[in-house]
Amino acid sequence: MNFCSKCGQKVQFGEIEGDHRPRFHCLDCGTIHYQNPRVIVGCIPVWQDKVMLCRRGIEPQFGLWNIPGGFMENGETVEEGAAREMFEETKGRVRIIGLQSMFTVLHVNQVHLHFVAEMQDLNYETTPESTEIQLFTEGELPWKEVAFASNYFALKKYFEDRKLGVQRTHRGSLSVVNGKFVVHGENWEVKNSNY
Ligand SMILES: [Zn+2]
Repeated sequence: MNFCSKCGQKVQFGEIEGDHRPRFHCLDCGTIHYQNPRVIVGCIPVWQDKVMLCRRGIEPQFGLWNIPGGFMENGETVEEGAAREMFEETKGRVRIIGLQSMFTVLHVNQVHLHFVAEMQDLNYETTPESTEIQLFTEGELPWKEVAFASNYFALKKYFEDRKLGVQRTHRGSLSVVNGKFVVHGENWEVKNSNY
C-alpha cells in the first residue's frame, strides 16, 4: 500500500500509539489502514456416493482439480457465498448442509470455509473457471491432482466422516516451516507438492 484510499496522500508503515503492531496509516488524515485475513467460502457438492470436482481454468493451480469456492462478498452469509460460488463456477445448485472444514492459510492470510452441500440435480456446465466438471467416488478421486491444501483437507475429512456416518466440522491450517508447507489438523498431516 502506497497511498491513502481516503485522502490520496502517501501512507506510512509503522507503530501507532495504542496499537500492538505496525500498520499502514496516513499522517495527513489520520486513517489507519487495517489489513486482515480474507474469507474463502466453498462447498463439497455431493450427489449420492460422489462429489463434484472442477478442473481449474484459471491460475493459480491451473489444470488441477478443486471444489467450487472463492472470495466471500460483502452483504452475503458464508452459506450464500458457498452456494453462489458453486453456481458461478458450474451453474449447479446446492443446499448447504453443514460446515466440513475451517482452514487457516497463514502465508497468504486467508480463512477457508468449506461446507458439505447436497446437489439439487445433475444440471451443471463448464465455465471459463471450470473447464471440466466430474463426479468422483472416493476411490476415483484424483487425489494427487487436487489444488490447495484446504480442498484436500476438506475432502479427506468428508470421506472419513461419511464412513462413520457423521457430519462434523474439522479445523486445519497450512503454514510454511523452514521453507516447507506443513498442514496441521487434529493430528492429521499430509505433504503434497501441489500446495
Ligand atoms: Zn489520508
